[in-house]
Amino acid sequence: MRAADKDEKRSLEVAEASRETEWQQPSFVKEMFMGRLQTDLIFPFPEQDPADKSVGDDILAQVRDYLEKNLDADRIDRTCNIPKPVIAGLAKLGLFGIKIPKEYGGLGLSQINYNRIIHLVASHCASTAVLLSAHQSIGVPQPLKMFGTPEQKQKYLPRLAAGAVSAFALTEPEVGSDPSRMSAQAVQSEDGQSWIINGEKLWTSNGPIAELLVIMVRTNDPGSEKPEITAFIVEGDSPGLETVHRCDFMGLKGLRNGLLRFRDVRVPAENILGGRGEGLRLALQTLNVGRLTLPAASAATMKQALAIAVDFGKSRRQWGAPIGHHEAVAAKIARMSADLFAVDSLTWLTSAMGDAATQDIRLEAAMAKLFCTEAMWRSVDDAVQVRGGRGYETADSLRGRGEAAVPTERLLRDARINLIIEGTSEIMHLFIAREALDAHLKVAGMSATSTRMDVKNAARFYAKWYPLLWLPRPAVFKSVDLPWSLKRHLWFVERATRRLARDLFHRMMLHRQGLQKKQMLLARLVDAGAELFAMTAVIARAGSPEAPPGADKLADLFCHQARRRLSRLHREVYFNDDRRAYRRAREVLDGHYPWLEDNILSTWKGTEPPT
Ligand SMILES: Cc1cc2nc3c(=O)[nH]c(=O)nc-3n(C[C@H](O)[C@H](O)[C@H](O)COP(=O)(O)OP(=O)(O)OC[C@H]3O[C@@H](n4cnc5c(N)ncnc54)[C@H](O)[C@@H]3O)c2cc1C
Repeated sequence: MRAADKDEKRSLEVAEASRETEWQQPSFVKEMFMGRLQTDLIFPFPEQDPADKSVGDDILAQVRDYLEKNLDADRIDRTCNIPKPVIAGLAKLGLFGIKIPKEYGGLGLSQINYNRIIHLVASHCASTAVLLSAHQSIGVPQPLKMFGTPEQKQKYLPRLAAGAVSAFALTEPEVGSDPSRMSAQAVQSEDGQSWIINGEKLWTSNGPIAELLVIMVRTNDPGSEKPEITAFIVEGDSPGLETVHRCDFMGLKGLRNGLLRFRDVRVPAENILGGRGEGLRLALQTLNVGRLTLPAASAATMKQALAIAVDFGKSRRQWGAPIGHHEAVAAKIARMSADLFAVDSLTWLTSAMGDAATQDIRLEAAMAKLFCTEAMWRSVDDAVQVRGGRGYETADSLRGRGEAAVPTERLLRDARINLIIEGTSEIMHLFIAREALDAHLKVAGMSATSTRMDVKNAARFYAKWYPLLWLPRPAVFKSVDLPWSLKRHLWFVERATRRLARDLFHRMMLHRQGLQKKQMLLARLVDAGAELFAMTAVIARAGSPEAPPGADKLADLFCHQARRRLSRLHREVYFNDDRRAYRRAREVLDGHYPWLEDNILSTWKGTEPPT
């Protein structure tokens, strides 16, 4: 076997070993990939419980007041710093313990209320939203709640709720999307009482100011082929732990994020979180929950982008009319509005699913993260375009020459990272595709890493399952009460769900084990699934008695636009340029077209320090 193939196999095996293999609860998206539209898992659209809402309303009013009076987002962006008194003020409001149970001194709020708070903060200052979110969506409180012992919870949760900032340290210079290459290591002391950590962690959000960190390191011999990964809770002021570089980014200028170095950092053995060797599983399950926050941040950013575009679209006149009346600009505002309604619906749907805890939402959270962050990026890009030159100008510069300090370019700079953190869009495609294929692999007695197939069992299953994919399932609509304008879209979703399952099956039969390498194809199938999930969410929300005014019209527009995108995705499953594109890409990578880099000056080349 070639070294590259061996590496790939090892990466796959490590990822497979840390997968949650069982589905204890139903999943809407998983069923969708099998061609079954489980409307009962989404309809009626879950509305927030009035008592829970009232608790959230109270704290939101306090947060809004605090932000207005104390948090200057442009200043944070300019000075690359969230002032300490601001962080202390947020802590005083309880915002470092939003989901920590009251018995440990937290606010004990629901996922919906947590997301409402992050939404409000993100609409104003993304750096501050990430400070709060890195602390409690993925930082110590979340895995501690999920995997901690009673003693660990008692020891750390009250501190965290009181404002001890925390961080989540998984990434390393050589470990981005592929944890099998992890090199930071912990070795047990001779007396077995503690572990000694050595290594580096990169891009740890809040790392430089964290009082506590959850860090994933390998705990077996570095010579062994597969890493055993274990999570530890580490004190931020441990001797030997230092921030060797504060990272500076395109956006999120106020975020404290750094390259952390661990040199003989001693951690008590009781600080292992979730058990030895369970670190990657813990990290992935933490991210499954953490991802529920990104749709809320996306919705907030999109609302701000739309507000900016609408304000300018009405007030700016060119060529005899407000620019919003010109069709090219109106088209952007229409898509921004329709997509925002979809993102908003997915946000509150998945938040409610998280609170109800009656469904397995690993796929729903990943799909919402993927769909919402991609939609958000289009939306902020459109907002910049609608504002023309002013979209590219900083708020300070606009203010300096006497115009309103609209932070459009900051919105764009801050937004981009969301397509990368907590699972890049590419990795989300692969993760969702893997889970979508799970039922098929199980039926065929196969795994992602082996090609052995139980042909008999597969034939028995598919002989029954496949013909059903051609038959409408009217039972789906029994419990769903919708006006015709929405119902016709749901009919489409039902048909397209069966078509998606057929497409997946056809390609599986054609490519078999090779399908997992057909990333362009898998991405199309996943994107189609995401469109269908979003359509179902907007239809359910627009059809709910609590629907906001005009929701049916936006749902109708979103569904029409999504249907067009779905037609294209379906066509391209069968007719595409994937092979041609891949070959050209390999040629470009192999240097066959040196003239594509003609006449450019690349002073960055060769700037890496010698190793
Ligand atoms: C501002 C910021 C904050 C962050 N905060 C944290 C944090 O708090 N804690 C933490 O642990 N990490 C954090 N990260 C790291 C972040 O999660 C990683 O950047 C992310 O996981 C991707 O890893 P990478 O950048 O090394 O990309 P790589 O893994 O090097 O990937 C590079 C590109 O290749 C693609 N790619 C990689 N593998 C495949 C594949 N098999 N198939 C197809 N495409 C592939 C990726 O999608 C990406 O587009 C942060 C990063 C930033 C920039």
